[in-house]
Amino acid sequence: MYNKDNVFYKILRGEIPSKRVYEDDVAVAFYDIEPCCRIHVLVISRGLYTNFADFVAQAPGHEIKSFFTAVAHVADILGVKDSGHRLLMNSGPDAGQEVEHFHVHILGGEPLGKKLK
Ligand code: AMP
Repeated sequence: MYNKDNVFYKILRGEIPSKRVYEDDVAVAFYDIEPCCRIHVLVISRGLYTNFADFVAQAPGHEIKSFFTAVAHVADILGVKDSGHRLLMNSGPDAGQEVEHFHVHILGGEPLGKKLK
């Protein structure tokens, strides 16, 4: 169940500032407030979905395609399309999901090492 009491909902509504790099009708991208590498941008859905599983289950196919097309476009804008980047989606407690509004992390700008550890 989506709960509007989360920080990304407020960013979508402009109630909390964000350093936006891109937006369209399905996605909004902005810099993470606590970057974990040189380039760390979040792409969030405009639709109200809690996580990846919810997004895939609830969103129409054209919205899913448009969202991930936007993610690829943002990676290009950030200059990490060819240098390489990592896409990260935390879903649920074991993944440490902090904000329960669907989002993708784009990580790059430097060598990231192997996987998670
Ligand atoms: P996750 O663990 O995938 O839910 O990650 C949520 C991310 O949101 C974390 O990397 C936070 O640093 C980031 N974050 C939280 N509040 C803000 C904010 N106001 N502006 C930008 N990023 C934020």
